[in-house]
Parts: sequence; C-alpha cells; structure tokens
Amino acid sequence: MSEFVLAVHGGAGSMRRLRDDAAGQERIRDGLRGALRAGQGVLSDGGSALDAVEQAVRVLESNEAFNAGRGSVLNRAGEVEMDAAIMCGEKHRAGAVAAVRTILHPISAARAVMERTPHVLIAGLPAEKLALEAGVEEVDPEELATDERRRQLRRLRAAKRVDLDHGGSTVGAVALDRSGHLAAAASTGGMANKLPGRVGDSPIIGAGTWAADGRCAVSATGPGELIMRACVAHEIDAAIRLGGLELGRAASAALAMVAQLGGRAGCIAVDGNGTVAMPFTTEAMPRGVARTGEPPRQAIYDEELR
Ligand code: ASP
Repeated sequence: MSEFVLAVHGGAGSMRRLRDDAAGQERIRDGLRGALRAGQGVLSDGGSALDAVEQAVRVLESNEAFNAGRGSVLNRAGEVEMDAAIMCGEKHRAGAVAAVRTILHPISAARAVMERTPHVLIAGLPAEKLALEAGVEEVDPEELATDERRRQLRRLRAAKRVDLDHGGSTVGAVALDRSGHLAAAASTGGMANKLPGRVGDSPIIGAGTWAADGRCAVSATGPGELIMRACVAHEIDAAIRLGGLELGRAASAALAMVAQLGGRAGCIAVDGNGTVAMPFTTEAMPRGVARTGEPPRQAIYDEELR
C-alpha cells in the first residue's frame, strides 16, 4: 500500500496575543494534534482522503480554541454564521454551506450537500434543514458562541473594526490517501463583526477550497474577500497544470497575488506525490502534518514543525 499524508491549519494571522501565552499556544497545538490523529486513524486504516479531512475538521469544529463550529466568531448582529466546504479530487465532487447557524458540524453539512443534492453550495435555512435531514447534529447557536467571542465582539464594535485575527482561527485540512485520491475541507465562522449574510472564501470552490486528483488539494486562509478575488486555491492548480510549477512555488505565487491585492494569507496544500506546502505571509499560521507511521508534528509561527 502507498503512503498517505494529512495536513491541517488553524488560520493565518498574527497570533500576537498568543506570543507570550505558552498555555494558549499549547491549546492550539493540542487541537491540531487531535485533528491530525483523527485523520491519521482514518487514513492508516485505508480510509479515504475525504473521510480523513472531514474527521479532522470535525475535531477542530468541536474545539472552541478555533473559529469554526463551537467557538465561531460573531457577526455584527451578535450571531454565529458559519461557512464550510469539502471537495474530493476524484471527478471534482464538491459540497458547501454558507451562513448556517444551527449546525454543530458545518463540514458534515457540506458533505451532505455534495452527496445528497445535485448542487454545490446551499446557504442559510435550507442548508440547515438539509443537514438535519442528513442526520448532522443540530445545536442551539447560543451554545456555539463563547464568552470570549462575546467580549471580542464588544471590543470590535467599539473600535468599528472587522477582525480576522482570532488567535485560533478558520480551520482546514487536505489529504492524500493510500489509493492516491486527494481531498480538501474548510470550516469557519468567518470574520468577527462581519455584516450579517457575509460569505467568505472557505465555501467558494476554487477560492478557499480545491482538490483535483493528480495535482493538488488546497485549503486557503486569510482575508476571504482577497482570496476570492485572487481565486487562490484554483490558481495553485492552474500554475501546476498550465505553468508546470511544483507545488511550493505554485502556492507561494498564489499568495503573492493576494499580496498584490493588499493582503496577507496562507494555505496548506498537498500534491499527488504527497509533497506538502504550507506557506503563509502572515506572522503565524497554526499548522500540522501527519504522515504514514510518523507522529503528527505542528507549528504556529515561522518555525520548524515539531
Ligand atoms: N478566510 C476566512 C474568511 O474570510 C477567514 C480566515 O481564514 O481566517 O471567512
């Protein structure tokens, strides 16, 4: 059997508030490790990249240190509104949900869109209804919002700012399984103090999330508006397919395009050979990798994985 690889991220940003907070950093590392172990378990049993990225993201959605599922940021109206997408490299199958509120695991709702409908992206109440019918756990949105997120919203409302840098942020996962298939997944509460109804790049196929067998699986993170305008995830595929670039250069070139538009971002990507690239132009991007038979390794800042 061939080798597998799984990579996860916990959102690009400065993570400045965590610089001197060893316990806070450990919570993020622990969260990444748990997600990597969950996905690694799936892959080492011969499971699919699709199942692995879904399981890894579900673990991160359950962890309130990250801006996804429980612990999602609040919009200007004080509500959680979450986006998620999942994509399978085989035949470019994809599903996504946007602006959902009552779902504990938006990533599984995205998968339900992919598997149970002829559509790719469903938003709002109908997406919530579909998820419930598919057996995805319902939750009272009040339970998703933590006290820390309520305090954050009060600060941002006072400062009249929309914020991206959440300590632990948006989550994503990419994987190559033992059969050579690629998959990508992303889940997020988006930007804190965003306008109600705002949808970011994460559920937009080709912008924040992309997978095409033989080439790459990508999950991007950073300012969603710029990632959409640069179409980051698909841009990486195009640079490989049309430009003949190797994965790392393709990923850095896509981030350079975001920089030209005036922003900083990051991404995790894996190609059909199991090469992983995790570039970021922010100060930090919590991230980690798990390979066949190796313990998962993580990093937050510009440092080696360990
Ligand atoms: N890209 C996400 C969004 O704009 C945010 C992030 O990656 O932190 O919704």
